[in-house]
Amino acid sequence: MPSNEFTEAHPELIKNLDSLTLQSRVVAAARPPRGEDAGINPAIELNSTFLAPGATGYGRFGNKTWSALESAIEALECGPTLVFSSGIAAISSFFSILPRGAVVTASRNGYSGTMVLLRQAEASGALEVRYVDVSDTDQVLAALNGSTMLWLESPTNPALEVADMPTIIAAAKSLNVGVAVDNTFATPLVQQPLEMGADVVIHSLTKYISGHSDVILGSISTKDSALYQRLAEVRKFHGVIPGPFETWLALRGLRTLGVRMERSQKSAMELATRLSLHPAVDRVRYPGLPTDPHHEMAKSFMRGYGAVISFDHRGGPEAADKACAASQLVAHATSLGGVESLWERRHRWSTESPTIPTNLIRLSVGIEDLEDLWRDINNALNLSLEI
Ligand SMILES: *Cc1c(COP(=O)(O)O)cnc(C)c1O
Repeated sequence: MPSNEFTEAHPELIKNLDSLTLQSRVVAAARPPRGEDAGINPAIELNSTFLAPGATGYGRFGNKTWSALESAIEALECGPTLVFSSGIAAISSFFSILPRGAVVTASRNGYSGTMVLLRQAEASGALEVRYVDVSDTDQVLAALNGSTMLWLESPTNPALEVADMPTIIAAAKSLNVGVAVDNTFATPLVQQPLEMGADVVIHSLTKYISGHSDVILGSISTKDSALYQRLAEVRKFHGVIPGPFETWLALRGLRTLGVRMERSQKSAMELATRLSLHPAVDRVRYPGLPTDPHHEMAKSFMRGYGAVISFDHRGGPEAADKACAASQLVAHATSLGGVESLWERRHRWSTESPTIPTNLIRLSVGIEDLEDLWRDINNALNLSLEI
């Protein structure tokens, strides 16, 4: 199953994980070989250079801690994996290997940093971008004709639109259009894009996979060995390499992904339901809600609905800011996927897409007690309604 450079160098670290569920793989993957007094965890490899002769040679070319995390992500996404210094480093490395002038179909809403990169690539003539509403399958299928690549985020950040991934990926394949999926929001526990036929899966490991808001890291997984080699070269020669300590922390965080996701998703479902009844809330965007326009689609192929909720504040942007500043347990901060709940009005960032409402608040649901969270959110929203 695993086939990266690491596996060849360290075959003993890879167990046959195929028979395990994903919930067990997050715990069991990338463990060192068992033996008397063997450590239960991989070591942190802190060397910049290695004695000759040898396969690695230099710290920018390879690192055993990277390899351990890569083999763990490979066990979840089912494709050889490379880790990068950040999610955006993984994304920009991927865009950098597309041929000049390539036509990219991409969601009009998506992670704001990706949108910035796409707009820059358009401005410089490096790429031509067709922006689509990913939840409008006909629109996506029409745009695919003549495209080089489809860049898919589903659910989208922060609008939580869901694409018909099985249909769209199959259509792209039949047209010979490459498919790359940013799977940060869903995590491999909820959907595995390579298993659905995508060519590339990208993660901001900063979010759910690390899970503790203490690391910036990214990854790319692909079964295409030529693509893997080209991306490995970009990492090596552009130097977009992760630090060994961050990599180790990400693997440590990954161990609890299953229980964190289970709890966060359960709380998100309940909070979304309660939010939709709150007088300060106009519209809740959460694919788990039966009333959500994306619910049926999400239910048809996802194994969960994630733990990010977006909602539009009835009082407008100022009241939304007031609510975010008034919470005590939920931190007023950007990012998502950590054990601690966070919220923010997305348009406090100038890079947020114009298609996102200015009163939209994105809430990342952590693992705190549900009733404590609701008391805090309810209080903050009530305060934001007072003049
Ligand atoms: C945060 C995020 C990124 C960027 O990752 P970094 O690790 O912050 O560089 C990319 N895609 C999505 C969906 C994200 O949420």
